[in-house]
Amino acid sequence: MVKQRTLSIIKPDATKRNLADAINTKIKEGGLNIVARKDMQLTQDQAGSFYEVHKERPFYGELVEFMTSGPVVVQVLEGEDAVAKYREVMGDTDPANAAPGTIRAEYAENIGANSVHGSDSEENAKIEIGFFFDETELAG
Ligand code: GDP
Repeated sequence: MVKQRTLSIIKPDATKRNLADAINTKIKEGGLNIVARKDMQLTQDQAGSFYEVHKERPFYGELVEFMTSGPVVVQVLEGEDAVAKYREVMGDTDPANAAPGTIRAEYAENIGANSVHGSDSEENAKIEIGFFFDETELAG
């Protein structure tokens, strides 16, 4: 099995409720290691370009507003099959459909304020990691 990396963001609804530690416990229980972390407040420009792929979707404006509404925790996760594994640990986008025990089932407020982001493919993971981290921050 090959080690893979994926990008996770703990979203403002979760940081506001002090859930970062609880979410990181679930991430580690899922067999993923946290190899880099940045606590930050996203600007409108950063959130807008990070979610550029959703630009045409009706919730884009709401999503950018939400992602800039409070602090976020941006992390690189590493492990076997990390992209798929983290999608599993997060649960469905809509918490109403998320499997019991997943982060979104336990903590998400609704389909928008759903506590976490995770890359959806290995290719996007590389792009998203590069959006927040440079090589020197990811050494080792
Ligand atoms: P993800 O890969 O599971 O995060 O889901 P998507 O790529 O489909 O959507 C990206 C993010 O946009 C989601 O995590 C939500 O925060 C937000 N989002 C998706 N669908 C909706 C929606 O119907 N309404 C709102 N307000 N936000 C949404």
